[in-house]
Amino acid sequence: MTIKGKACRNCRKIIEKGKECPVCGSTSFTTFWRGYVAILDPQNSEIAQKMGVSTIGKHALRLSR
Ligand SMILES: [Zn+2]
Repeated sequence: MTIKGKACRNCRKIIEKGKECPVCGSTSFTTFWRGYVAILDPQNSEIAQKMGVSTIGKHALRLSR
């Protein structure tokens, strides 16, 4: 399954539109990313904690550029 969007270079949040990251306010994105995890419950998610993610949503696993 592929999803559209770009990943924030700073926090890896994937957004579909907009110029600014809703999480960290960064304006630096990349469309070259692979894999993602959907964090539903950051407080209780081991993955979210490992990734340093504290917000609900999709986050890229790997940024290529
Ligand atoms: Zn961000």
